[in-house]
Amino acid sequence: MSAIDNLPPLRQVIADHGLSARKSLGQNFLLDLNLTAKIARQAGDLSGCDVLEIGPGPGGLTRGLLSEGARRVLAIEKDTRCLPALDEIAKAYPGRLEVLNADALDLDPLQHLTPPIKVVANLPYNVGTELLIRWLTPPDWPPFWQSLTLMFQREVAERITAQPGSKAYGRLAILSQWRADARIVMHLPPGAFTPPPKVASAVVHLTALPEPRFPADPKILERVVARAFNQRRKMLRAALKGMAPDIEDRLLSAGIKPTDRAETVHLEQFCALARSFET
Ligand code: SAM
Repeated sequence: MSAIDNLPPLRQVIADHGLSARKSLGQNFLLDLNLTAKIARQAGDLSGCDVLEIGPGPGGLTRGLLSEGARRVLAIEKDTRCLPALDEIAKAYPGRLEVLNADALDLDPLQHLTPPIKVVANLPYNVGTELLIRWLTPPDWPPFWQSLTLMFQREVAERITAQPGSKAYGRLAILSQWRADARIVMHLPPGAFTPPPKVASAVVHLTALPEPRFPADPKILERVVARAFNQRRKMLRAALKGMAPDIEDRLLSAGIKPTDRAETVHLEQFCALARSFET
């Protein structure tokens, strides 16, 4: 499908509706519809899916999602100034766009969506990380979403997809990769946004696995990983000392040297260590 719709160019939408970017809402807009269609395509085939979009702003990515064939888009936007522009898009795609004026952190979007559900968003970075962690740690697995296609500050994208042995490897990598496939699918320079942010960005695509890569209790795994990386420069026998008197034995049986540091330990080993705490 083509990215061309009969709506005005986004620069004109912004001028017509007085959508000067607000820093407090992390507003860095994407105004190139070819680019927003390309981001939408990173989410794969949208034709049979409901898409949850957080922070549509003037609607560039929303238009990309609709022109790329999303069955339905539910867009959640906090800034009331954007609503008239989004309403014009809803009229151009009858019955396919619902807009909710709400804070994404307060809302349970599930009542409004029908599976299969994909999440696609260009969000302020702080909200993005908080939502990602929520989406990765639901009470039950598999989660409500089939995939997440999210814009992040490049440094955060690298933390999500990092492998052991790198500085970026930590809690976010473990949480992201334990129950999902996570990869960077696009890099964007600051100039792709209006106004340009200070740092480069990247789009991360995560696909939910039907079940965890290795068995472990989520709460225990989170606790072990949080402790291990809280003192990432310490040897694990010291960083995890408070968790059990026989921590060295537990580390050894999980295939981890007690003198190793968290950033060299593989996901499989963290899961084995977490299992040693299950009674
Ligand atoms: N998606 C648009 C684009 O790509 O041009 C806008 C992206 S801009 C980085 C982030 C958007 O998220 C803004 O429209 C902002 O008003 C909205 N936003 C910020 N915090 C939000 C929140 N807590 N809940 C919902 N929307 C939020």
